Amino acid sequence: MKIMEFEYIFEEVKIKPSNAPKFTLNGEEIDIWSEKFANYHSKSIVDYVRENLVRYEQMQIDPFSEIVGKKVEKELVKTALMSGSNILFKGKKGYGKTTFSKSILKLLPEKILAIKGCKIHDDPTQPVCFSCKKRVLEANSVELTFVPRKWIRIPGDPMMTTRQLIGGISIQKIREGYDLDHPEVFTPGRVLKAHRGLAYFDELGSIPSALQTLLHELFEEKQITTPEGDIIPMRIDALIIASTNPANYKGVSDIKEPLLDRMEQIDIGPPETIEEEIEIGLKNMSLKKGARIPEWHLKILASAVRCMRSKNCRYANRIEVEPSCRATIKLFDHVRASATRKGHEAVMLSDYGERFEIVKLALRSRFEIDYDAEISKDEIVEAVVNDAIDSVCSSIYASIPRNVFNDIMEAIAEMRVVNVYKANGFSQFAHSMCKDSNEIKSALEILLESIARCSGLVERIGDGIYAYKAYDRQTRV
Ligand SMILES: [Zn+2]
Repeated sequence: MKIMEFEYIFEEVKIKPSNAPKFTLNGEEIDIWSEKFANYHSKSIVDYVRENLVRYEQMQIDPFSEIVGKKVEKELVKTALMSGSNILFKGKKGYGKTTFSKSILKLLPEKILAIKGCKIHDDPTQPVCFSCKKRVLEANSVELTFVPRKWIRIPGDPMMTTRQLIGGISIQKIREGYDLDHPEVFTPGRVLKAHRGLAYFDELGSIPSALQTLLHELFEEKQITTPEGDIIPMRIDALIIASTNPANYKGVSDIKEPLLDRMEQIDIGPPETIEEEIEIGLKNMSLKKGARIPEWHLKILASAVRCMRSKNCRYANRIEVEPSCRATIKLFDHVRASATRKGHEAVMLSDYGERFEIVKLALRSRFEIDYDAEISKDEIVEAVVNDAIDSVCSSIYASIPRNVFNDIMEAIAEMRVVNVYKANGFSQFAHSMCKDSNEIKSALEILLESIARCSGLVERIGDGIYAYKAYDRQTRV
C-alpha cells in the first residue's frame, strides 16, 4: 500500500541491506556496503572529520599547514573538532578567519555518495529530504552520484529572509498534489545546501536574531517551523564554522545565547611576529612575479602596518580601525608593481612614491581614524612609514663594522655624489646584505639612506642619489 505522500515528510528513514532498493552509479548496479563504497555513506560529517584528524595526527602532518603561525589556535581547533564541536572564530577582519575555515574543509572526505538529483545531496542510507525518502522506499532502482566536498559560505546579512537562509517547504502544495520534486514544493536555502558539508557563517552575529533561533533548532531538532509557517522536517548534518567581529565594532549585533552555547569560541588575532606578518604578506600577494622585494623593504612596510595596530603607536588613540594583514599584502603588491613598471630589479625607496603615495594607496581604505582627529590619514601614513624607515635604517647602520664604515665614507668622499643606479659594486658591505645580486642597487640605496638618517654625513638629493655632505660644507665655506 502506498503511503500518503506527505507522511514521508515526518518519517525517519533508515536503509539497510535488507530494505534497500537497487543502487546504481553511472548506470551500473553497485553494492554500497562493499569495501569499495562503504566509506562514502552512512557516516556523519563529524565522524569523517574525527577520522581524518586522527590520520593527520598519526602521520604527524599539520592539516592547517597553509596557515602561518597560530600554533595555539590550531591546537584548539583540532581539539574542538575532535570532540565534535562547532567553532566560532572571533577576531577583527583580515586575520584569516575565512582562510582557517577553508583549511578545515580539508578534513572532510574528498567525495561522498549522494542520491542523484537531490537538492541537498542526501545520503542513500539516511535521506532527510522527503523526495529522497520516497525514492529509496518506493523505487526499484535509485541512481547515485559522487559529490565533492562542500564549503558553503553564508554571509551575515541583517536583511536575510528565512527562505534564503533555510528554505521553504509548502505542505499546501503537496496536499494539492504537486510532485515532491517540484520547485514550488521544496526550495533549499543556504543552510540546507550545506547538508553533509561545511557551513561557514561569515559574521554570524549579523544574521537576524529570529533566524539565529531557527538555526539552533535546525541543528538540534528533527523539524522546525518557520515564522512564515513553513515546516522544515529535517535535521541537517553539517560542520558549522562561524566567524564574528568583536562586539565593540560598529554594525555588529550579538550572537544569541542558545547558539553561542553550541559553539567553542577561538580568538584569531593579528600575526604575533613581524616574520609571520611578512610570510603572510608574501604568501597572499596577487603579483607573484616581478621585481624583488628585499628584506629591508619587507621589514619597513610590515612594521609600518604593525605599528598602526600597536598601543605604542604615537597615533594609537586616533586610529579606530586598524589595518589588517590585507594592508600588508597590498603594500607588497603595490611596491612590487611600481618597481616592475619602472624596470627596477628590486624595490627602491622611490617605489613608495615621492610622498609615499603608493603606500597610501594600500593603506588609505584599510584603516579608520576618529572624526575629530586633527591629523589626516595621509599625514599618519607619512609619519608611520617615516618612523619605520628610521627604525630599519638604524639597525642597518648599527650593523656596519667600524672599519667598513670608514672605507665606505672614504669612497663616498671621493665620489662626492653617489648615484646608486650607476655605482654598481661600490660597496662590499652592500653585497653582503643581498640575497640575490639583483638586490644590489636597492641595498646600496638603503645603506646610504641609513648613513644619511643616522649620521647626517650624506644627504639624499634625488631618486637614488646621495651627496657627501661634509664635502659640501667644506666647499661652501
Ligand atoms: Zn534528498
